[in-house]
Amino acid sequence: MQNSEQGRVRKQRFQQRLNVLHVSTLHRRLKQHLPAAFNTRWTRRHWIHASLFAMIGALVATIVPGFSNAIDTPLSSHATLPLPLPPLAPGQSPYSLPTDTWHTLRIKSGQTLSSAFDELGIPSTVMHQVLQHPGTKAALTRLRPGAEIAFDMPKSGELRGLRFDRDASHRVELSLAGDQVHEKVSTRATTTRTVVTSGQISSSLYVAARKAGLTPAAVATMTDEIFKYDIDFDKDLQPGDRFSVVMDETWREGERIDSGDILAATFTTGGKTYSGFRFERGGKQAEYFDITGRPLKKSFIRMPVAYSRISSTFGARRHPVLGRMRMHKGIDYAASSGTPIMAAGDARVQFVGNQRGYGNVVILDHGKGYSTLYGHMSRFGKLRTGQHIDQGTVIGYVGMTGLATGPHLHYEFRVGGQQRNPASVTMPPPTPLAGAELAAFRAKTSPAMARIQGMEKLLYADAGAGGKAQPEAKRKGRG
Ligand SMILES: [Zn+2]
Repeated sequence: MQNSEQGRVRKQRFQQRLNVLHVSTLHRRLKQHLPAAFNTRWTRRHWIHASLFAMIGALVATIVPGFSNAIDTPLSSHATLPLPLPPLAPGQSPYSLPTDTWHTLRIKSGQTLSSAFDELGIPSTVMHQVLQHPGTKAALTRLRPGAEIAFDMPKSGELRGLRFDRDASHRVELSLAGDQVHEKVSTRATTTRTVVTSGQISSSLYVAARKAGLTPAAVATMTDEIFKYDIDFDKDLQPGDRFSVVMDETWREGERIDSGDILAATFTTGGKTYSGFRFERGGKQAEYFDITGRPLKKSFIRMPVAYSRISSTFGARRHPVLGRMRMHKGIDYAASSGTPIMAAGDARVQFVGNQRGYGNVVILDHGKGYSTLYGHMSRFGKLRTGQHIDQGTVIGYVGMTGLATGPHLHYEFRVGGQQRNPASVTMPPPTPLAGAELAAFRAKTSPAMARIQGMEKLLYADAGAGGKAQPEAKRKGRG
């Protein structure tokens, strides 16, 4: 249950990040150039990567079921993201004979349940009868675009049965007789396999990743989470760069229906190989670490507001409201009102409320004498004093409460209670894994790394230890 809770929290943070992405003018501009089919959140982002290079062709290999058994250390199981189920073709259920009275309807984006029933001319009274059957309404309203519902209709408008997938492993079939609704649930076995996959970029990361069988969510984990501190995915990528990923996949009836979190990943760019391994430290949410056990995440993110510009730096200036020379003991980020503000680091919430000049202000205590302050907010995120929050949590929204001439975030970085310039202060390094945790981490990550290296050696000529090109020169003895 803890896993699903973590999954929920992760999804929520993910959503917050997406909302942040949405305010970017870059994305707004791109949207206009894209065909309608690409106007979904993920493809829009990946289109950026897709357009990086001209198409040349890609070398990709996937180690499929069978190989994964070679990974002897079981890597942790994780929450997964749902993918569309295979088509509900007639005759697929063991409970129904193939007939030609089944009509399969694919849920379109934004389509309501009643419009789906309408489309087939089913009276609303029948729809309500179906929805009143226990569990049906919840399951049907959860269906995502692309999901399918099969209707058994011998005659137009006359509904005899209904079939849909409640989740990855349960298919529900309802049959209607008079005002009675009968339910049959068939269980479909699923298996989880750990797979290794690799791709080399020739046209774009997106293309290579899709060929390697990575979902858009997995690509986003690589670009926005694991490697975002080391690689600038909008500038650094070159043809020939490559990645390898170890991840769990859920299979059913010979078909991959779901993929889980990335357990391990490497990315080789500019002759350097970066790696990230997923690990849960001391009951906290899983994070990614490098091969030595150092967190990839920095202690503090550089900008607490994405896609903003610095409108006032740290130092002496004439105060825009008070009109006299004064030290500006923070950095101002101009952004439109309502832009989400993120916690710069993992923290305990020290203060949420109103203070004269600052207006709506949040103060976060990061431990070891470090704290950050966020002023002029239009409103707060869901926070209470004393609460522990993760880096990147949305703590509030840009506004102009207090002494402000326009919407901006006033950000202060304090060391030992004194405001310091975050641009020049040396940030504390994150605490690496040690002791028993480091041992557990190594036991988990070394088989995954060995698989990745083994595979890269097979695929790429220059893949030596650490991903660097290895000269063929043999060590020469004396004489
Ligand atoms: Zn300021």
